[in-house]
Amino acid sequence: MPLRPYIVGNWKMHGTRAMLSEARAIDRAAQRHMKVEVALAPPYTLIHPIHREAEQIMVGAQDCHHEEGGAHTGDISASMVADAGAKFVILGHSERRQNHGESDATVRAKAEAAFAAGLRVIMCVGETEDIREDGRALDHVKAQLKASLPESIEDAGERLTVAYEPVWAIGTGKTATPADIAEMHADIRALLVELLGEEHGREVRILYGGSVKPENAGEILSTPEVGGALVGGASLTADSFMGIALAA
Ligand code: PGA
Repeated sequence: MPLRPYIVGNWKMHGTRAMLSEARAIDRAAQRHMKVEVALAPPYTLIHPIHREAEQIMVGAQDCHHEEGGAHTGDISASMVADAGAKFVILGHSERRQNHGESDATVRAKAEAAFAAGLRVIMCVGETEDIREDGRALDHVKAQLKASLPESIEDAGERLTVAYEPVWAIGTGKTATPADIAEMHADIRALLVELLGEEHGREVRILYGGSVKPENAGEILSTPEVGGALVGGASLTADSFMGIALAA
């Protein structure tokens, strides 16, 4: 059975405790829209407070370290975010790949650690504008995905989500065309079936991310093979975030 549309908010480095009221409003609205699975990835500092109060939404982290523990000042492990209440972790986001030099191999090690800690993983992939203009977007994204995923994933259909986020569309107000999204998602689907087998490969949801907002969500979410959205800026208020969820 296909899983419900998955609408995930990525708060990035936004949010102090003053934002807890917004998370509560998102949770209340999510209880009225059970056709959609709503999840929120706040900064680490808000994982536990949101998890403690949430009745409907799933809370996750935006990253984790690939080791279980050790001398890594400022880092946090998968089991630590799980202990704080996270049920999933976003990995391989382009802001991590660009700003922190994360390679596919690093992202893969993090995914292995996350699965071992019982977390679900949202694996992000996407091409830069130069790569798209060069006509290499499809090959680039598939190679990135293949190199970032662990060799084997148990219950992949349930535990893995892929997010296609063109780097040039993140926070810019630009979005890929429905035709480009459909083409990319179809290629990602074919690769998932090749890597995970027919059953799990078809189950994994493929989200689109990059300037999704209530005004364009209907069109994006009805594009073939789009199983939901990963939302940055528009997830910071309950009104705009749930406007997206309602369009699903
Ligand atoms: P955006 O961010 O919705 O603000 O473009 C999306 C993301 O980075 O996940």
